[in-house]
Amino acid sequence: MSFILTAISRPIALSTSRVASRATLATGATAAAEILEDVFTEQMEEVASQEKKPNPLEYALSVKTPVNTWTKEEIKAIYDTPLMDLMHYAQVQHRRFQQPSEVQLCTLMNIKTGGCTEDCKYCAQSQRYNTGVKAERIIQVDEVIEAAKEAKANGSTRFCMGAAWREMKGRKSNLKKIKEMITAVHDLGMESCVTLGMVDKDQATELKSAGLTAYNHNIDTYKEHYPKVISTRSFDDRLKTFKNVQGSGLKACTGGILGLGETQEDRVSFLYTLATMDQHPESLPINRLVPIKGTPMYEEVKNKQVEVDEIVRTIATARLVMPTSIIRLAAGRYTMKEAEQVMCFMAGCNAIFTGKKMLTTMCNGWDEDKAMLAKWGLKPMESFKYKPREVAFGA
Ligand code: SF4
Repeated sequence: MSFILTAISRPIALSTSRVASRATLATGATAAAEILEDVFTEQMEEVASQEKKPNPLEYALSVKTPVNTWTKEEIKAIYDTPLMDLMHYAQVQHRRFQQPSEVQLCTLMNIKTGGCTEDCKYCAQSQRYNTGVKAERIIQVDEVIEAAKEAKANGSTRFCMGAAWREMKGRKSNLKKIKEMITAVHDLGMESCVTLGMVDKDQATELKSAGLTAYNHNIDTYKEHYPKVISTRSFDDRLKTFKNVQGSGLKACTGGILGLGETQEDRVSFLYTLATMDQHPESLPINRLVPIKGTPMYEEVKNKQVEVDEIVRTIATARLVMPTSIIRLAAGRYTMKEAEQVMCFMAGCNAIFTGKKMLTTMCNGWDEDKAMLAKWGLKPMESFKYKPREVAFGA
């Protein structure tokens, strides 16, 4: 690429003049050697910094595999690109790394509703808020199998199960039951995902041994903004579970929620956190907050719904800096018009939740989603077949 050549040649020219000016002052061979070493080090540092990413957008489009050396400034530069350009380049990136016509269809089921001890200010299932959601016990394995069969018959290839609680610690019998659910879903030929709060590495390993494909654990927002949304656990707790999940060999499904009162800077920082992880999440859900009456967040943001252009901008930036992740348009999609959803696909989104319900909120149904995908030349992704293109080509 031409920008790399420019970056390399410029420091060399600079260094030559530095050598000349410093050498005239040198009095001996040792001093001259020191000057040369000094200049060489400076030169290499300049080359390294300029060669890397003189233009973050151009750099994003030149990488052959995902990189995690992004700076916040670089991600901000991409995020601030005029939207039509940003969408175009995100689509170019999408076509480099993804099968452009494929969209993964997932169905999410609540296997344990309500009564959660956590205080997430947006959540209908926290026992702290009066949202009308009743606490229930974990459901039976048979109910899960029936729901998964229905989802499969309607075209979903990933089945996700969510339990409203803080963590898996001390839940041995529940873990046993969830493992049965996972194995049953796996035996149906579907990918499986669970979201069960915080897990340690042993629990994650156990879930994997039952056949689990991925573990969902969102970071929700940026570290600085996190305490304004949740106080019963820390952002670092979140990252710890993410590490335990990846450390067990499971795929991580980790993203966040837009519309929690965060600033544009927070959003850039949220993407920066994900893009600089040792290994990017396999799946990156982007939720549009659905404000729930009775939650503290409802009062704070009920008249400040995040705009579609901001969702598109976030997805496009994510696609450019995390090219191999599956970007999943999650909760709140039902609030978007079809053309708005299509803009998200253009920007690099390639997964949706579809079915009867999205935990406690509404969800677009299978029939309307399949009709939408067909209309726009998109088709459902097959289960267990996902492979980023550049990686596949290089394999
Ligand atoms: S988001 Fe999850 S952890 Fe937070 S209150 Fe709701 S169910 Fe509990």
